Amino acid sequence: MSRVRAISLFSGGLDSILATRLVMEQGIEVTAVKFVTPFFGYDILRDVETYRQETRRKYGIDVTVVDISDDYLQMLRNPPHGFGKYFNPCIDCKIFMLGRARAMLEEYRASFLITGEVLGQRPMSQRRDTLNVIERDSATRSLLLRPLSAKLMKETEAELKGLIDREQLLDFSGRGRSRQIALAREFGITDFPTPAGGCILADPILSERISRVYSGTFPVTHENINVADIQLMLIGRQFLLPQGGWLILGRDEKENQRIGELQEEGDVRLFIEERPGPVALLRRSAELYSDERARHRDIDAAMGLIVRYAKKTEGKPVGGRVIVVAGQIRRDAYREPLEDDVYQAWLI
Ligand code: SF4
Repeated sequence: MSRVRAISLFSGGLDSILATRLVMEQGIEVTAVKFVTPFFGYDILRDVETYRQETRRKYGIDVTVVDISDDYLQMLRNPPHGFGKYFNPCIDCKIFMLGRARAMLEEYRASFLITGEVLGQRPMSQRRDTLNVIERDSATRSLLLRPLSAKLMKETEAELKGLIDREQLLDFSGRGRSRQIALAREFGITDFPTPAGGCILADPILSERISRVYSGTFPVTHENINVADIQLMLIGRQFLLPQGGWLILGRDEKENQRIGELQEEGDVRLFIEERPGPVALLRRSAELYSDERARHRDIDAAMGLIVRYAKKTEGKPVGGRVIVVAGQIRRDAYREPLEDDVYQAWLI
């Protein structure tokens, strides 16, 4: 008889680890799928192999990493079930990911899906009625098993068909973590992540920046935003310049380097060489301005910011030569630092 297979939605949080292991305990072959977007898990893409090895070493789980960024950005435009406290569309996020996982069943010859959801654990997305909506709208009702709370729910197809033994599944509910921690110990898992989510869409400050794009109050719109734009929104000092430009300014060497990596054609890069200082990008400068004079005014403002944030002399910002690179053209000019009261209102 061929082995039973399942796909687990693997967030990397303790619940998804335990749900995956609980099903594996029954001899079922589980493919753990870690979906990533610029809002969660994206750094994994820098070194997928190390992440896979670590997950295997710490939790005994084989994980497959899938980048769903482009479609996820589209989903954010108009999530039918709305947003949580911040810009977090948790219900539609889950529906979206389950839909993607469902589409993978055939390729992985898997019979059902697993999540680490626990009944009543989260206020919005893990109430019983919400769990029903998620199943319904992702068309996974008969396919979706939540092993940690299975005994509190109706039997799923996998249980009815005898693919998995319901008796060995659990009845966790509520916000307490003690049963999860005890189960982790039983599995020999000691090095597990803390409950904090790590999703940027649920972060009060960063999600506010992202929401600007989708509310039309940002120079880049949700119609043409790309993954690199989102990554730029999450680092450095951010300015909306008086003529409508978007400037990202590095706060340290690491951010300067990252800003350089994310540069695209059409961006203007500014920096200073005579003393330590920020690298800045005037993003999408080639397309955001219809008027060349407006573009030059913003570049001028950006030059003043570069010297303002470069290393001070005797505790004070001083002038310096700023290098401006636009496409193949490189020029430099001396600028005085901007006064704080001039640019404070540009900060976002
Ligand atoms: S917190 Fe973020 S990753 Fe988690 S369900 Fe909500 S939107 Fe999705």
